[in-house]
Formats: sequence, C-alpha cells, structure tokens
Amino acid sequence: MFCGECGTQNPDTNQFCRNCGKPLKKNRQVSPALQPVAAPQPPAAAPVAQPVSYPPLQPVTRQPPVVPAGNAMPVKPPLNRGMLALGIVGVVVGIASWFRYPYILAVLAMVLGAVAIAKSGKKTGAVSIIGGIAILIGIACIVVDIFYFTIFPPPALDF
Ligand SMILES: [Zn+2]
Repeated sequence: MFCGECGTQNPDTNQFCRNCGKPLKKNRQVSPALQPVAAPQPPAAAPVAQPVSYPPLQPVTRQPPVVPAGNAMPVKPPLNRGMLALGIVGVVVGIASWFRYPYILAVLAMVLGAVAIAKSGKKTGAVSIIGGIAILIGIACIVVDIFYFTIFPPPALDF
C-alpha cells in the first residue's frame, strides 16, 4: 500500500510509513495528488463590512479623583502630630502666663500657636484649634494684665 502522506510504498503489514512515520490506513489508498480540493466559497461567505458603528475615539479627559473638601485626608501625620504637641505646649504656656511672667509666656504661647497653625497641613484641623486656643489665651492674658485694674478694680479704691 501507499502512504497517504508522502506516497511511499509500504508493505501491507506495516502500520506506519517507513518514510515519514505516519500511520498507514489499510482500507484507503490515497495518493497525495488526490487531495480533496476545497470547494469554492460562495460569494455570500465573503467578509462583509459589518455596519457596526464604533463610538468615535475621543480624547478621554481623565480627571483626578476629587477629594471632598471635608474629608479627613492624612497630610503628613508626623508633622501634624508635632504641631499638635506644639499647640498644646502653647496652650499650657498660655495658661501658665496667667500665673507667672504674663507678657513673656503669653507672647510665647501666641508664637507657639501661630507656628502650629502655620505648619499644620489643615487650617481647620485640631492643630489649628489648639493653636488658636493658645493664641487666645495669650492675648487674653495680656489684655487682662493690661486692663486688670480696669476690669477688676482693687478693693483699695472702693474706699
Ligand atoms: Zn509516508
């Protein structure tokens, strides 16, 4: 018989072609020249331009994700912690200014509070609140100290 692949004549006892090694089919004697010819494709099978309308390619304006204004956004937490501590120190100094060295400690409290507010990332955060409290305490200390005798007249004048 002949090999269906390469046409080499093989003994009928062979199960595989001695030339190309393909398995031999005993019931068919296929010559390579008798390959089935592909039927001509009908014209309808030709690729037809699909009327699919793709959306026109527009330049996508990709906007950055909008963060809500009130959203708590971590802005440099170490710095804010330091500034929060600075503001707390300012408050403590401001309170101390009511008892000792009113002008020096009051000014120091205001400076600490102002620095804390200036260095904090958020102007509406706890740092600014603490800093504002320090400034207010310092201002109040100075104001009260200046006008102490106006606000609280000494009892000696009541005579
Ligand atoms: Zn063969």
